[in-house]
Formats: sequence, structure tokens, C-alpha cells
Amino acid sequence: MNDPRRFVVIGGGLAGLASAVWLAEAGKRVTLLERRGRLGGRTHSLDVAPLRDVPDNGQHVIASGYDHLFRYLSSVGTRQYIKFPDQGVLRWPGGRTSIMGTKGFRALNSLFGAHPDASAGDRARAAVATVKMGWQCLNQPADLAELTTDQWFRRLGMPDTAREALWDWLALGIAAEPVRQESAKVFADVLATGIRLGVKHRRPVGIGYPTTDLDTLFVDGARRVFERSAVEVRYRAVARRVIIRDGAVTGVALDDGTVVEADAVVCAVPNSYIGGLLDDLPEHDEIYAAADKLGYTPIVSTNLYLDRPLGTKGAMEALIGGAGVIDEVFDRQRMHGRGTLNGWLYCLTTSGAYDQIHKPSHEVVEEQMTLLRRYYPDAAEAKVVHAQVVPMPRATFSQVVGTDGLRPGQRTSVPTLVLAGDWTRTDWSATMESAAQSASRAVDLLLALPERAGAAT
Ligand SMILES: Cc1cc2nc3c(=O)[nH]c(=O)nc-3n(C[C@H](O)[C@H](O)[C@H](O)COP(=O)(O)OP(=O)(O)OC[C@H]3O[C@@H](n4cnc5c(N)ncnc54)[C@H](O)[C@@H]3O)c2cc1C
Repeated sequence: MNDPRRFVVIGGGLAGLASAVWLAEAGKRVTLLERRGRLGGRTHSLDVAPLRDVPDNGQHVIASGYDHLFRYLSSVGTRQYIKFPDQGVLRWPGGRTSIMGTKGFRALNSLFGAHPDASAGDRARAAVATVKMGWQCLNQPADLAELTTDQWFRRLGMPDTAREALWDWLALGIAAEPVRQESAKVFADVLATGIRLGVKHRRPVGIGYPTTDLDTLFVDGARRVFERSAVEVRYRAVARRVIIRDGAVTGVALDDGTVVEADAVVCAVPNSYIGGLLDDLPEHDEIYAAADKLGYTPIVSTNLYLDRPLGTKGAMEALIGGAGVIDEVFDRQRMHGRGTLNGWLYCLTTSGAYDQIHKPSHEVVEEQMTLLRRYYPDAAEAKVVHAQVVPMPRATFSQVVGTDGLRPGQRTSVPTLVLAGDWTRTDWSATMESAAQSASRAVDLLLALPERAGAAT
């Protein structure tokens, strides 16, 4: 390690892990500060003690265009744990299903007419509206930031069948907000990123899933890199303020009164934790105001262990046309090839869970079982062996109308202080790829700096 500078990363979520791993790869001396007793941030495994099982805090899906996340997985040696199925399954009340192909003609059919009741006219209108939408993603109308995704879809003339079977559901998945609130610009920006990546990789962006738990996927490999590269990880180290003197970072003050000396800092905490950390930075007021305005959107995840299988046709099934209590059902048997000694594990996700977030767990489970019975005939007699509800009131920053342009970049006015985290400005919405991309940009900024004379050895 020839570079004497001390690089400190604040936050051990994906953005912080990726920053620390890539700085270590570049041969830098790194300390990682994490306020909790574990790494992984919003992507981590949870212990279900009575069952001796470790599902996740929330099911995470991965788009094939997550280039920076794949770089991270390659760095930590877990790239092989991602699978991209050839088709998706949509399920309607009563158990009816339709298959969405992701390749060739079947992909086009999914785009224009995945709904089993779509008429020829609907399909033609969906095709025209989809092409128009693609064009407007790349050449955005001036007022897009003022529209909700719902208003934009209506203006494009997207038929209800296409919206129900694909677009409303996809929009909710992309920004975790219902289409009547979500900013059309956020959705359009992510679609534009998808189109560009599709052209770059010469295949449409598909949706995949991990075949293992999130700790194995994201954390364990990072720990191995840290051990190999002598990265110091400090748990329960709560950063209070990044100390800046004469335009350069000198350290990070912790809430126990100690200071970790630093020559460069990556601040990789979410918008909900940024307050106070950047007080020494001239533009801190602006960043704090943006963090506040971005706000939060809730997600409720449930790990539901049943006494019998639901009769799924795919590893992930989107529930269409229901009350929106669950948007997706993930079959862990199919995804992870797991045994059923503890029952059949289904991971359910509700994005934009404004109604559910305040309900007690037993009510959430009851509601979800009622819904599952509407969609899966095999659920009629199913009993819940165990349930774990994970409410996340601040699951991601919010991407409603009015949030456009608020996300701060990774560069600050102090060259040795950079920001990272899903909420900083990237090509993506609040996703793991946004976290990884922000880390890549933050690390590049620091690595481009000349070594400072006189840094401690
Ligand atoms: C239920 C759920 C489902 C999701 N599904 C998907 C999905 O399917 N696909 C997808 O791409 N994305 C999904 N996301 C979003 C994704 O998880 C996040 O965008 C990503 O994990 C954010 O990473 P991050 O590093 O920016 O932040 P975080 O993971 O929040 O990490 C920040 C870390 O900083 C630490 N910290 C905070 N303050 C301090 C401090 N003062 N000092 C020290 N440490 C501090 C925190 O403890 C935390 O570990 C989902 C999120 C949730 C909650």
C-alpha cells in the first residue's frame, strides 16, 4: 500500500460496501464506518429464529442492465447467484395466468398485448402508445416533470389492458410509488436508461433474481475482500460530522466523541441520515433541503411460510387487477431450490404501502392470505406455519411529482468529500444499481485526485 492517504467510507449499505471494495481494489487504505452491528444496509438477511431460517428483509429483483451492480458482484465473487428467467408470469384473480416472454417476438407480444383479454384494437393502440412512449423517453416533453405517470399514460393513449398487464405494475416496481403519485419523469428517465442499455448490450433489459439470500450475495464476499485487503470495518460507529478544514477533509467525528482521521471521505448514508453530517460543507443547507423534500416511500415485505405449495408457475409472479395489497409473490422454492421442512416460503412485497405500513403484523398477514386465496386456488385451505412482516416506512426516497432535479451529485465543493447512496443523482431510480453506480462515480472522483503531500503514514 504505497498511498499513505486514509479513505473513510461512512455507511455499510451497498453504496458504502461497493465504495470500500473498489477503493481497496485500487490499493487504498480504507476504514468503513457502520452505525449498526451488521453490514448490508437495506439489503440484508433476517434471522427467523424459531425456524432457523434466514430469508431477506425484502425480496430484491435485479435488471439485466445493472452494470455497476454486476461489477460489484464480480468484485466480491458472487456474480453466479443471479438468474434471469426466460419468462415472467402474470396472475389474475381466480388463478388465470399469462406468460410474458422476454425474447424476440414473445417480448414484443409482452410489450403490446400481455393481457389475455386485449382485443386486436387494444394491441394496435398499445403498440402505437408504446412506440410514442419510447420516443418521449428519449426526447422528453418539457412538462413531463409536472405529470404523474398516470397522466402521461393517458396522454399517450395507452389502453387499460396494456396498463393493467404491464405498465402500471412496472411503474410501481420502478419507483415504488403508485402511478397516480409517481413522477412521469422518473419513470421516463429509467426507461430511457433501459433503452440505451438495451441498445448497448443488444438485448432488451430483463428482470432477474438472486438464487441465494442477500447476505451471501452482497455482504459475505465483501467481508472476504476486506480481510484480504486489510480494510478496517468499525461496527456501531455512528458518524456525526465530516470535519472539513481549509477546504479539505481531516476526519469524521463519531457520536462517542472520538474522531477517525481521514484524508478523503465517501459519505454513503441515505437521505434520512444525512442531517448534521455535512455541516462543515458550504452547500450543506441545499443538500439537507433536498434530502427532506425527497422524503420516503414505505414498502412492506412479508416472509410467509405455508403448510402447502401455492401452485405457482414461475419463480416471481405479479398479481394483476387486485386491490394492490401485494404486487409480487416470490416462490423461494423455485428461486433458491430450497427444501420445505419449514413449510413453503413465499416472499410478498407491497410497494407504496401507505395503507399497510401502520397495520399490525397479524392484520397484514390476514389481508395477504385473503388476497392469495383470490389468486391461487391452492391457497384456499393453506395454513400459515409462520409469518414475518417487515415494515420499512423509509424503504426508499420518494419519487413523486415535484422531486425532479433534487438529487445531489456525488461531487461536492470539497474535492476530498464525495457523496454516494441510491438517492444521489444517477441514471436510475431508488435501486441497488443506483447505489452501485453512485459508488462507482464517487470512487472515480477520489481516485482522480492527486496524492496529497504530507498525509499520515
Ligand atoms: C423492501 C425493499 C425492497 C427493495 N427492492 C428492490 C429491488 O427489487 N431492486 C432494487 O434494485 N432495489 C430495491 N430496493 C432498494 C435498494 O435496497 C436500495 O436502493 C439500496 O439497497 C440502497 O443502498 P444504499 O447503500 O444507498 O443505502 P443503505 O442500504 O440504506 O445503506 C446505508 C447505510 O448507512 C448506514 N448509516 C446511516 N447513517 C450512518 C451514520 N451516521 N454513520 C454510520 N453509518 C450510517 C446505515 O446503517 C446503512 O447500513 C428495495 C428496498 C427495500 C427496502
